[in-house]
Amino acid sequence: MGRVLIIGAGGVGTVVAHKVAQNRDVFTEVMLASRTKSKCDAIAAQIGGGFIKTAQVDADNVAELVALFNDFKPELVINVALPYQDLTIMDACLEAGVNYLDTANYEPKEEAKFEYGWQWAYQDRFKQAGLTAILGCGFDPGVTSVYTAYAAKHHFDEIHYLDIVDCNAGDHGKAFATNFNPEINIREVTQKGKYWENGQWVITEPHEIHKPLNYPEIGPKESYVIYHEELESLVKNFPTLKRARFWMTFGQEYLTHLRVIQNIGMARIDTVMYNGVEIVPIQFLKAVLPNPGDLGENYTGWTSIGCRIKGVKDGEVKTYYVYNNCSHEAAYKETGTQGVSYTTGVPAMIGAMMFMKGIWKKAGVYNVEEFNPDPFMDELNKHGLPWVEIHNGDLEL
Ligand code: NDP
Repeated sequence: MGRVLIIGAGGVGTVVAHKVAQNRDVFTEVMLASRTKSKCDAIAAQIGGGFIKTAQVDADNVAELVALFNDFKPELVINVALPYQDLTIMDACLEAGVNYLDTANYEPKEEAKFEYGWQWAYQDRFKQAGLTAILGCGFDPGVTSVYTAYAAKHHFDEIHYLDIVDCNAGDHGKAFATNFNPEINIREVTQKGKYWENGQWVITEPHEIHKPLNYPEIGPKESYVIYHEELESLVKNFPTLKRARFWMTFGQEYLTHLRVIQNIGMARIDTVMYNGVEIVPIQFLKAVLPNPGDLGENYTGWTSIGCRIKGVKDGEVKTYYVYNNCSHEAAYKETGTQGVSYTTGVPAMIGAMMFMKGIWKKAGVYNVEEFNPDPFMDELNKHGLPWVEIHNGDLEL
Protein backbone atom coordinates (compact mmCIF):
# COMPACT_ATOMS: atom_id res chain seq x y z
CA MET A 1 0.00 0.00 0.00
CA GLY A 2 2.79 2.44 0.63
CA ARG A 3 6.13 3.69 1.71
CA VAL A 4 7.20 4.45 5.30
CA LEU A 5 10.33 5.92 6.78
CA ILE A 6 11.31 4.90 10.32
CA ILE A 7 13.64 7.35 12.13
CA GLY A 8 15.60 5.95 15.10
CA ALA A 9 17.42 2.61 15.34
CA GLY A 10 17.26 1.95 19.08
CA GLY A 11 15.23 -0.71 20.88
CA VAL A 12 11.89 0.69 19.69
CA GLY A 13 13.11 1.23 16.11
CA THR A 14 14.24 -2.40 16.02
CA VAL A 15 10.74 -3.62 16.93
CA VAL A 16 9.01 -1.26 14.47
CA ALA A 17 11.32 -2.51 11.68
CA HIS A 18 10.55 -6.16 12.49
CA LYS A 19 6.82 -5.50 12.69
CA VAL A 20 6.50 -3.54 9.44
CA ALA A 21 8.48 -6.31 7.75
CA GLN A 22 5.87 -8.79 9.00
CA ASN A 23 3.12 -6.75 7.30
CA ARG A 24 4.38 -6.28 3.77
CA ASP A 25 0.89 -6.11 2.31
CA VAL A 26 0.54 -2.72 4.08
CA PHE A 27 4.16 -1.49 4.14
CA THR A 28 5.44 -2.14 0.66
CA GLU A 29 8.64 -0.08 0.88
CA VAL A 30 10.48 0.70 4.09
CA MET A 31 13.52 2.76 5.00
CA LEU A 32 15.19 2.90 8.42
CA ALA A 33 17.27 6.04 9.03
CA SER A 34 19.15 7.16 12.11
CA ARG A 35 22.20 9.08 13.31
CA THR A 36 24.37 5.95 13.24
CA LYS A 37 23.78 4.12 9.96
CA SER A 38 25.61 0.96 11.09
CA LYS A 39 22.83 0.37 13.64
CA CYS A 40 20.23 0.57 10.84
CA ASP A 41 22.28 -1.81 8.71
CA ALA A 42 22.51 -4.34 11.54
CA ILE A 43 18.72 -4.31 12.03
CA ALA A 44 18.09 -4.57 8.27
CA ALA A 45 20.52 -7.51 8.05
CA GLN A 46 18.75 -9.26 10.95
CA ILE A 47 15.43 -8.97 9.09
CA GLY A 48 17.09 -9.98 5.85
CA GLY A 49 16.00 -10.17 2.25
CA GLY A 50 17.01 -6.59 1.45
CA PHE A 51 13.49 -5.46 2.41
CA ILE A 52 14.60 -2.57 4.63
CA LYS A 53 16.66 0.20 3.04
CA THR A 54 18.86 2.26 5.35
CA ALA A 55 20.18 5.81 5.52
CA GLN A 56 22.10 8.16 7.78
CA VAL A 57 20.30 11.27 8.98
CA ASP A 58 20.71 13.87 11.69
CA ALA A 59 17.12 14.40 12.78
CA ASP A 60 18.06 17.68 14.52
CA ASN A 61 18.69 19.10 11.06
CA VAL A 62 15.54 20.03 9.10
CA ALA A 63 17.36 20.49 5.77
CA GLU A 64 18.91 17.02 6.00
CA LEU A 65 15.53 15.51 6.83
CA VAL A 66 13.81 17.30 3.95
CA ALA A 67 16.47 16.08 1.50
CA LEU A 68 15.95 12.49 2.71
CA PHE A 69 12.14 12.80 2.52
CA ASN A 70 12.30 14.23 -1.01
CA ASP A 71 14.59 11.42 -2.05
CA PHE A 72 12.68 8.45 -0.54
CA LYS A 73 9.20 10.05 -0.77
CA PRO A 74 7.54 8.29 2.18
CA GLU A 75 3.83 8.75 2.85
CA LEU A 76 4.46 8.52 6.59
CA VAL A 77 7.38 9.05 8.95
CA ILE A 78 7.43 6.92 12.10
CA ASN A 79 9.49 8.94 14.58
CA VAL A 80 11.10 6.62 17.14
CA ALA A 81 14.23 8.74 17.66
CA LEU A 82 14.21 10.84 20.85
CA PRO A 83 11.56 13.36 21.98
CA TYR A 84 14.10 16.15 21.29
CA GLN A 85 13.67 15.55 17.55
CA ASP A 86 9.84 15.78 17.38
CA LEU A 87 9.66 19.39 16.22
CA THR A 88 12.43 19.25 13.62
CA ILE A 89 10.84 16.12 12.13
CA MET A 90 7.40 17.78 12.12
CA ASP A 91 8.91 20.87 10.43
CA ALA A 92 10.49 18.67 7.77
CA CYS A 93 7.18 16.81 7.26
CA LEU A 94 5.42 20.12 6.58
CA GLU A 95 8.13 21.19 4.16
CA ALA A 96 8.20 17.92 2.22
CA GLY A 97 4.47 17.06 2.49
CA VAL A 98 4.82 13.90 4.61
CA ASN A 99 2.51 12.57 7.36
CA TYR A 100 3.85 12.03 10.89
CA LEU A 101 3.58 9.60 13.83
CA ASP A 102 5.50 9.46 17.13
CA THR A 103 5.51 7.75 20.54
CA ALA A 104 6.66 10.50 22.90
CA ASN A 105 5.91 14.22 23.15
CA TYR A 106 8.44 16.96 22.57
CA GLU A 107 10.90 17.81 25.29
CA PRO A 108 13.56 20.53 25.04
CA LYS A 109 17.07 19.21 25.71
CA GLU A 110 17.93 21.98 28.14
CA GLU A 111 14.83 21.61 30.35
CA ALA A 112 13.36 18.35 31.75
CA LYS A 113 9.82 19.31 30.85
CA PHE A 114 7.50 17.55 28.46
CA GLU A 115 4.11 18.77 27.32
CA TYR A 116 1.95 18.63 24.21
CA GLY A 117 1.66 22.42 23.79
CA TRP A 118 4.62 22.60 21.43
CA GLN A 119 3.19 19.96 19.10
CA TRP A 120 -0.45 21.01 19.39
CA ALA A 121 0.74 24.40 18.08
CA TYR A 122 1.27 22.68 14.68
CA GLN A 123 -2.49 21.95 14.35
CA ASP A 124 -3.32 24.69 11.81
CA ARG A 125 -0.23 24.09 9.69
CA PHE A 126 -0.89 20.34 9.39
CA LYS A 127 -4.58 21.05 8.65
CA GLN A 128 -3.76 23.55 5.93
CA ALA A 129 -1.22 21.18 4.39
CA GLY A 130 -3.79 18.33 4.44
CA LEU A 131 -1.37 16.21 6.49
CA THR A 132 -2.01 13.93 9.48
CA ALA A 133 0.13 13.95 12.63
CA ILE A 134 -0.56 11.11 15.09
CA LEU A 135 0.91 11.83 18.54
CA GLY A 136 1.82 9.37 21.28
CA CYS A 137 1.37 5.99 19.59
CA GLY A 138 3.45 3.69 21.83
CA PHE A 139 2.05 1.80 24.81
CA ASP A 140 1.86 4.60 27.36
CA PRO A 141 1.05 6.98 25.78
CA GLY A 142 -0.63 5.04 23.02
CA VAL A 143 -2.41 1.84 23.95
CA THR A 144 -3.43 3.29 27.34
CA SER A 145 -5.04 6.22 25.51
CA VAL A 146 -6.81 3.88 23.06
CA TYR A 147 -7.97 1.68 25.99
CA THR A 148 -9.52 4.79 27.56
CA ALA A 149 -11.25 5.77 24.31
CA TYR A 150 -12.52 2.20 23.88
CA ALA A 151 -13.88 2.12 27.45
CA ALA A 152 -15.60 5.49 27.00
CA LYS A 153 -17.12 4.36 23.71
CA HIS A 154 -18.36 0.91 24.69
CA HIS A 155 -18.60 0.55 28.45
CA PHE A 156 -19.49 3.91 30.00
CA ASP A 157 -21.79 6.87 29.52
CA GLU A 158 -19.30 8.92 31.55
CA ILE A 159 -15.86 8.00 32.84
CA HIS A 160 -15.02 9.63 36.17
CA TYR A 161 -11.87 8.01 37.55
CA LEU A 162 -8.93 6.81 35.48
CA ASP A 163 -5.85 5.10 36.91
CA ILE A 164 -3.25 3.97 34.39
CA VAL A 165 -1.16 1.24 35.99
CA ASP A 166 2.24 0.31 34.57
CA CYS A 167 4.09 -2.64 36.09
CA ASN A 168 7.39 -4.03 34.91
CA ALA A 169 7.85 -7.26 36.86
CA GLY A 170 10.77 -8.32 34.67
CA ASP A 171 14.29 -9.11 35.84
CA HIS A 172 17.27 -8.31 33.59
CA GLY A 173 19.88 -9.42 36.12
CA LYS A 174 21.69 -6.02 36.19
CA ALA A 175 22.13 -3.97 39.38
CA PHE A 176 20.77 -0.90 37.57
CA ALA A 177 19.56 -0.34 34.04
CA THR A 178 16.73 1.61 32.41
CA ASN A 179 14.31 -0.04 30.01
CA PHE A 180 14.44 2.68 27.42
CA ASN A 181 16.77 5.57 26.67
CA PRO A 182 18.38 6.27 30.11
CA GLU A 183 18.48 10.04 29.64
CA ILE A 184 14.76 10.29 28.80
CA ASN A 185 13.82 7.69 31.42
CA ILE A 186 15.73 9.29 34.32
CA ARG A 187 14.42 12.75 33.42
CA GLU A 188 10.88 11.32 33.50
CA VAL A 189 10.99 9.41 36.79
CA THR A 190 12.92 11.95 38.88
CA GLN A 191 10.51 14.83 38.30
CA LYS A 192 7.72 15.83 40.68
CA GLY A 193 4.51 13.77 40.68
CA LYS A 194 1.40 15.32 39.15
CA TYR A 195 -2.19 14.16 38.71
CA TRP A 196 -5.55 15.61 37.75
CA GLU A 197 -8.29 16.10 40.35
CA ASN A 198 -11.48 18.17 40.27
CA GLY A 199 -10.45 20.34 37.35
CA GLN A 200 -6.87 21.05 38.38
CA TRP A 201 -3.39 19.55 38.56
CA VAL A 202 -2.15 18.41 41.95
CA ILE A 203 1.66 18.43 42.34
CA THR A 204 3.46 16.01 44.70
CA GLU A 205 7.06 15.40 45.66
CA PRO A 206 8.71 12.71 43.48
CA HIS A 207 7.36 9.24 44.46
CA GLU A 208 5.40 10.74 47.39
CA ILE A 209 2.19 8.76 46.81
CA HIS A 210 2.58 4.99 46.65
CA LYS A 211 0.82 1.77 47.54
CA PRO A 212 0.96 -1.90 46.56
CA LEU A 213 -1.32 -2.81 43.66
CA ASN A 214 -2.05 -6.33 42.43
CA TYR A 215 -1.16 -7.06 38.83
CA PRO A 216 -2.67 -10.07 37.00
CA GLU A 217 -0.42 -13.19 37.00
CA ILE A 218 2.20 -11.12 38.89
CA GLY A 219 0.80 -10.23 42.33
CA PRO A 220 1.34 -7.16 44.51
CA LYS A 221 3.96 -4.57 43.51
CA GLU A 222 4.66 -1.22 45.13
CA SER A 223 3.33 1.40 42.70
CA TYR A 224 4.10 5.13 42.64
CA VAL A 225 2.12 8.07 41.28
CA ILE A 226 4.25 9.84 38.67
CA TYR A 227 3.34 12.35 35.98
CA HIS A 228 2.98 10.84 32.53
CA GLU A 229 2.28 12.68 29.31
CA GLU A 230 -0.98 11.02 28.25
CA LEU A 231 -2.73 12.52 31.29
CA GLU A 232 -2.52 15.94 29.63
CA SER A 233 -4.41 14.94 26.48
CA LEU A 234 -6.80 12.49 28.19
CA VAL A 235 -8.21 15.05 30.63
CA LYS A 236 -8.71 17.41 27.70
CA ASN A 237 -10.38 14.82 25.48
CA PHE A 238 -12.46 13.21 28.28
CA PRO A 239 -13.70 16.23 30.28
CA THR A 240 -15.97 14.06 32.50
CA LEU A 241 -12.84 12.81 34.31
CA LYS A 242 -12.87 13.87 37.96
CA ARG A 243 -9.48 12.31 38.63
CA ALA A 244 -6.74 10.86 36.41
CA ARG A 245 -3.50 9.38 37.74
CA PHE A 246 -0.58 7.31 36.44
CA TRP A 247 1.07 4.62 38.58
CA MET A 248 4.39 2.94 37.87
CA THR A 249 6.10 0.15 39.80
CA PHE A 250 9.70 0.60 40.98
CA GLY A 251 11.83 -1.83 42.97
CA GLN A 252 13.65 -0.60 46.10
CA GLU A 253 17.03 -1.25 44.45
CA TYR A 254 16.09 0.88 41.45
CA LEU A 255 14.92 3.76 43.66
CA THR A 256 18.08 3.61 45.78
CA HIS A 257 20.27 3.79 42.67
CA LEU A 258 18.19 6.65 41.36
CA ARG A 259 18.55 8.59 44.63
CA VAL A 260 22.32 8.12 44.59
CA ILE A 261 22.55 9.17 40.95
CA GLN A 262 20.65 12.37 41.78
CA ASN A 263 22.51 13.08 45.01
CA ILE A 264 25.92 12.86 43.36
CA GLY A 265 24.86 15.09 40.47
CA MET A 266 24.90 12.49 37.72
CA ALA A 267 21.29 13.26 36.74
CA ARG A 268 22.20 16.89 35.93
CA ILE A 269 21.25 18.06 32.44
CA ASP A 270 23.39 21.20 32.40
CA THR A 271 26.91 21.36 31.01
CA VAL A 272 29.97 20.89 33.23
CA MET A 273 33.65 21.17 32.30
CA TYR A 274 35.68 17.98 32.60
CA ASN A 275 39.35 18.03 31.60
CA GLY A 276 38.71 21.00 29.36
CA VAL A 277 35.75 19.32 27.63
CA GLU A 278 32.09 20.24 28.10
CA ILE A 279 30.00 17.26 29.20
CA VAL A 280 26.40 16.82 30.35
CA PRO A 281 26.47 14.42 33.33
CA ILE A 282 23.29 12.53 32.41
CA GLN A 283 24.62 11.98 28.85
CA PHE A 284 27.89 10.68 30.27
CA LEU A 285 25.90 8.39 32.58
CA LYS A 286 24.01 7.03 29.55
CA ALA A 287 27.33 6.08 27.97
CA VAL A 288 28.32 3.88 30.93
CA LEU A 289 24.93 2.33 31.77
CA PRO A 290 23.78 -0.90 30.07
CA ASN A 291 22.27 -0.27 26.64
CA PRO A 292 18.49 -0.88 27.02
CA GLY A 293 18.56 -2.57 23.62
CA ASP A 294 20.95 -5.22 24.96
CA LEU A 295 18.93 -6.18 28.04
CA GLY A 296 16.70 -8.63 26.20
CA GLU A 297 18.84 -11.75 26.21
CA ASN A 298 18.56 -12.51 29.93
CA TYR A 299 15.31 -10.68 30.63
CA THR A 300 12.66 -12.82 32.30
CA GLY A 301 9.17 -12.03 33.55
CA TRP A 302 6.33 -9.80 32.40
CA THR A 303 5.18 -6.26 31.91
CA SER A 304 1.54 -5.53 32.80
CA ILE A 305 0.06 -2.22 31.71
CA GLY A 306 -3.58 -1.24 31.78
CA CYS A 307 -6.34 1.21 32.65
CA ARG A 308 -8.52 0.95 35.74
CA ILE A 309 -11.64 3.01 35.18
CA LYS A 310 -14.71 3.87 37.25
CA GLY A 311 -17.73 5.65 35.87
CA VAL A 312 -21.42 5.40 35.12
CA LYS A 313 -23.32 3.26 32.62
CA ASP A 314 -27.13 3.36 32.39
CA GLY A 315 -27.33 5.12 35.74
CA GLU A 316 -25.22 2.48 37.53
CA VAL A 317 -21.69 2.92 38.87
CA LYS A 318 -19.35 0.35 37.29
CA THR A 319 -15.65 -0.48 37.11
CA TYR A 320 -13.58 -1.71 34.18
CA TYR A 321 -9.98 -2.89 33.95
CA VAL A 322 -8.36 -3.52 30.57
CA TYR A 323 -4.73 -4.61 30.35
CA ASN A 324 -2.03 -6.46 28.47
CA ASN A 325 0.66 -8.69 29.95
CA CYS A 326 3.75 -8.98 27.76
CA SER A 327 6.54 -11.53 28.26
CA HIS A 328 10.09 -10.20 27.96
CA GLU A 329 11.25 -13.64 26.78
CA ALA A 330 8.63 -13.88 24.03
CA ALA A 331 9.47 -10.33 22.86
CA TYR A 332 13.15 -11.25 22.69
CA LYS A 333 12.49 -14.45 20.79
CA GLU A 334 10.50 -12.57 18.15
CA THR A 335 12.49 -9.34 17.73
CA GLY A 336 15.72 -9.60 19.74
CA THR A 337 14.58 -6.83 22.14
CA GLN A 338 13.01 -6.75 25.61
CA GLY A 339 9.36 -6.18 26.46
CA VAL A 340 9.44 -2.40 26.94
CA SER A 341 10.76 -1.82 23.41
CA TYR A 342 8.26 -4.40 22.13
CA THR A 343 5.23 -2.86 23.84
CA THR A 344 6.19 0.52 22.32
CA GLY A 345 7.14 -0.63 18.81
CA VAL A 346 4.10 -2.82 18.12
CA PRO A 347 1.55 0.00 18.69
CA ALA A 348 3.67 2.37 16.59
CA MET A 349 3.45 -0.13 13.72
CA ILE A 350 -0.32 -0.54 14.26
CA GLY A 351 -0.84 3.26 14.28
CA ALA A 352 1.12 3.43 11.02
CA MET A 353 -1.07 0.64 9.63
CA MET A 354 -4.21 2.57 10.66
CA PHE A 355 -2.88 5.55 8.70
CA MET A 356 -1.81 3.56 5.63
CA LYS A 357 -5.25 1.91 5.47
CA GLY A 358 -6.89 5.33 5.60
CA ILE A 359 -8.65 4.54 8.92
CA TRP A 360 -6.74 7.07 11.05
CA LYS A 361 -6.31 9.79 8.50
CA LYS A 362 -7.50 13.36 9.02
CA ALA A 363 -5.70 16.62 8.42
CA GLY A 364 -4.33 18.08 11.64
CA VAL A 365 -2.48 17.04 14.80
CA TYR A 366 -4.20 14.43 16.96
CA ASN A 367 -3.58 12.30 20.01
CA VAL A 368 -4.45 8.65 19.45
CA GLU A 369 -7.60 8.72 21.62
CA GLU A 370 -9.15 11.11 19.07
CA PHE A 371 -9.37 8.32 16.46
CA ASN A 372 -11.71 5.30 16.31
CA PRO A 373 -10.25 2.84 18.86
CA ASP A 374 -11.98 -0.31 17.53
CA PRO A 375 -9.78 -1.24 14.53
CA PHE A 376 -6.62 -0.52 16.57
CA MET A 377 -7.88 -2.77 19.41
CA ASP A 378 -8.51 -5.57 16.89
CA GLU A 379 -4.97 -5.30 15.54
CA LEU A 380 -3.43 -5.42 19.05
CA ASN A 381 -4.85 -8.94 19.38
CA LYS A 382 -3.29 -9.97 16.07
CA HIS A 383 0.21 -8.53 16.46
CA GLY A 384 1.41 -9.69 19.87
CA LEU A 385 -0.31 -7.46 22.46
CA PRO A 386 -3.63 -9.16 23.27
CA TRP A 387 -5.78 -7.48 25.91
CA VAL A 388 -7.97 -8.75 28.74
CA GLU A 389 -11.04 -7.09 30.28
CA ILE A 390 -12.35 -7.36 33.83
CA HIS A 391 -15.79 -5.89 34.50
CA ASN A 392 -16.83 -4.74 37.96
CA GLY A 393 -13.74 -6.06 39.74
CA ASP A 394 -12.06 -4.37 42.71
CA LEU A 395 -9.81 -1.62 41.27
CA GLU A 396 -7.98 -1.22 44.64
CA LEU A 397 -8.02 2.57 44.07
P1 NDP B 1 17.13 4.54 22.03
O1 NDP B 1 17.98 5.52 22.74
O2 NDP B 1 17.42 3.08 22.16
O3 NDP B 1 17.10 4.88 20.47
C1 NDP B 1 16.98 6.17 19.97
C2 NDP B 1 17.46 6.17 18.55
O4 NDP B 1 17.31 7.50 18.02
C3 NDP B 1 18.94 5.80 18.41
O5 NDP B 1 19.10 4.95 17.31
C4 NDP B 1 19.60 7.15 18.19
O6 NDP B 1 20.77 7.13 17.41
C5 NDP B 1 18.53 7.86 17.40
N1 NDP B 1 18.75 9.30 17.45
C6 NDP B 1 18.96 10.08 18.54
N2 NDP B 1 19.20 11.34 18.18
C7 NDP B 1 19.14 11.36 16.83
C8 NDP B 1 19.31 12.38 15.85
N3 NDP B 1 19.58 13.64 16.19
N4 NDP B 1 19.18 12.03 14.56
C9 NDP B 1 18.91 10.77 14.18
N5 NDP B 1 18.75 9.77 15.05
C10 NDP B 1 18.86 10.06 16.36
O7 NDP B 1 15.62 4.84 22.50
P2 NDP B 1 14.38 3.83 22.48
O8 NDP B 1 14.37 3.05 21.23
O9 NDP B 1 14.34 3.14 23.78
O10 NDP B 1 13.16 4.88 22.47
C11 NDP B 1 12.78 5.53 21.27
C12 NDP B 1 11.61 6.47 21.54
O11 NDP B 1 10.52 5.77 22.07
C13 NDP B 1 11.93 7.57 22.56
O12 NDP B 1 11.39 8.79 22.09
C14 NDP B 1 11.19 7.14 23.79
O13 NDP B 1 10.83 8.25 24.60
C15 NDP B 1 9.98 6.48 23.17
N6 NDP B 1 9.31 5.54 24.08
C16 NDP B 1 7.94 5.58 24.15
C17 NDP B 1 7.24 4.71 24.98
C18 NDP B 1 5.75 4.67 24.98
O14 NDP B 1 5.17 3.70 25.49
N7 NDP B 1 5.04 5.63 24.41
C19 NDP B 1 7.97 3.76 25.86
C20 NDP B 1 9.39 3.72 25.63
C21 NDP B 1 10.01 4.60 24.78
P3 NDP B 1 22.20 6.63 18.01
O15 NDP B 1 22.08 5.16 17.91
O16 NDP B 1 23.21 7.20 17.09
O17 NDP B 1 22.27 7.14 19.40
